[in-house]
Amino acid sequence: MSEKAKRKGIEIGAGLLAYVIVWAIEFYANLGRQEAALLFLVPYVVLSATTYVEQIKKIRTMKFLDENLLMIVATCGAFVVGRYREAVGAMLLYQAGRLVEELSLSSTKKSIAKFIDIRPEYANLKEGAGERVVEPQELQPKQIIVLKPGEKIPVDTVVTMGTGTVDMKALTGESKPRAVKIGDRLYSGGINLNGVLEARVVKAYSESMASKVMKLVENANEKKSDSLRLADRFTRYYTPIVIAIAVLTFILPPMMFPGTRDEWIFRGLILLVAACPSGLLVSIPMAFLGGIGAASRQGVLIKGSRCIEALTQVDTFVFDKTGTLTEGVFHVQKVVPHKIQEEELLELAALAEAYSTHPIALSLRTAYGSEIDKSRVGEVTEYPGLGLCAEVDGKRVYIGNYRLMNRQGLFCRPVAGPGTAVHVAVEKEYAGYIMISDVIREDAGRLIRWLHRHQMASVMFTGDNEEAAEDVAGKLKIESVYADLMPEDKVEQLEEFRESEMEGEKLAFVGDGINDAPVLARADVGIAMGGLGADAALEAADIILMEDEPSKIINAVRISRATLRSVKQNMTFAIGMKAVLIILAFCGLITMQNAIIADVAVMLINILNSFWMMKYPE
Ligand code: ADP
Ligand code: MG
Repeated sequence: MSEKAKRKGIEIGAGLLAYVIVWAIEFYANLGRQEAALLFLVPYVVLSATTYVEQIKKIRTMKFLDENLLMIVATCGAFVVGRYREAVGAMLLYQAGRLVEELSLSSTKKSIAKFIDIRPEYANLKEGAGERVVEPQELQPKQIIVLKPGEKIPVDTVVTMGTGTVDMKALTGESKPRAVKIGDRLYSGGINLNGVLEARVVKAYSESMASKVMKLVENANEKKSDSLRLADRFTRYYTPIVIAIAVLTFILPPMMFPGTRDEWIFRGLILLVAACPSGLLVSIPMAFLGGIGAASRQGVLIKGSRCIEALTQVDTFVFDKTGTLTEGVFHVQKVVPHKIQEEELLELAALAEAYSTHPIALSLRTAYGSEIDKSRVGEVTEYPGLGLCAEVDGKRVYIGNYRLMNRQGLFCRPVAGPGTAVHVAVEKEYAGYIMISDVIREDAGRLIRWLHRHQMASVMFTGDNEEAAEDVAGKLKIESVYADLMPEDKVEQLEEFRESEMEGEKLAFVGDGINDAPVLARADVGIAMGGLGADAALEAADIILMEDEPSKIINAVRISRATLRSVKQNMTFAIGMKAVLIILAFCGLITMQNAIIADVAVMLINILNSFWMMKYPE
């Protein structure tokens, strides 16, 4: 139980006790009206003191126009017109409702935290021949740790000894354990299932995957959705309106309808209580938290309720090609050297790409096969969307597409595919090209088919050549293709799309974060794939797919739609019930206590509805 809930519980217990005692005293002693009112003030103060203090504190931030204020006005008023028993009773029930609210909200947060229970508790630091148990926070890069079967990986590391399998389910939602060997990267939050591994620390705790993911989920509520902000604003206008209606009830009806003045004042006060929107206000954040939790269990991190809401409005999905729709693992098809040997060309390429993280670079290094002597590589300049220039053995080597060659003043034409030609030049000498091609993700086909079935459009952006682009788009049945785009062209093209959009339509961009972070950030909804990869993507994206599985987008869309549906249901139900209660109060057909009980009941139903959200879609 949270601190806040405990305090509230004690408050309610003490208040209830005082209430009973005061009832008994009133029953046996023959008290006058004023004395009795003073007596009932005791449980009232016990129950509401903290609420009053909270409310006074809120005046400074101008956020005091909320349901607390309604209750304060209503119960104060009840005291004034001599309905002190009801005042205390109403306050008691109201506080009980707030306790339920607090309990369910904190249990929601806790169960989300449980889904992503990836916080590592300790690490075995290797020291000489032995090892020592330390806090994960103490680990420094380059230290060696030992991972035993069943242990959680404390920080991001690279395996230096042994083989094993790791379970990444908590982090990525991937249920199949992954085999690891020397040289493989291990991400914190995963679990080593079998085999003893030694691994070198590559990132400190706070920079490691588990901390990053937890930070993202914990801050998820900061990016508020329109519905949440609407709810905040709603109370700001709603409260004064309700108070105005109540005041009118004090003044007008006594002149027109039967009943004493006090009776009508009391009805107005009940109306205030009946109008309390507490259930609604707690159920909305709960539904969003539930949606975020459900998604995170499937390896989809959603950075806040705003993203959930935006995702439900997306009608066009723009995809990056390399690494997103394709695996980003290129196979060398053909090596076409020019005035040098085939092996020489491949070696030059691998050396030049020694430091690049681009999928093409990784693939060329793999194709080369041998160890890369990094001492032969000097300064490297990357040209996003073109390629790069690296100093190899003191000479400038250019590697990239034909446009990079043209920029160096070398005549070079695009090579007919299928595949991507990677051209190499040494200083001003053209050295040939390496033809590589990529594999389409099967999973991407499933996603595209689903999108089309649900009337959403698909677009592809790529820096690759027209032919390679058309090839992939044709196989996946993507509707429109924009090829030969530099990273800044992608941004521009995206902006153009956004301008032509209609009100309420949103655009999502799906990329892998390798030189498309600016587009990810600019899209209405930026979806980054393989959250375990690029850091820039973690920052720029709104939604992160922890696994390289585009079809997870289907789950994300479904979950966000279900979340919004539940929010709308809750709003309709709560507002409808409030209307009924207000009418009942006006007609004098409901007591103050019953009005509160009804409010708490509405809240419970709303909360239950939100809870179901969290179970989705199991
Ligand atoms: P995409 O839009 O498909 O993700 P990029 O914008 O990353 O592609 O790159 C566009 C093109 O630029 C690639 O198809 C390739 O021809 C060239 N290129 C980019 N980076 C490199 C690199 N490190 N090595 C070789 N070529 C590169
Ligand atoms: Mg890319």
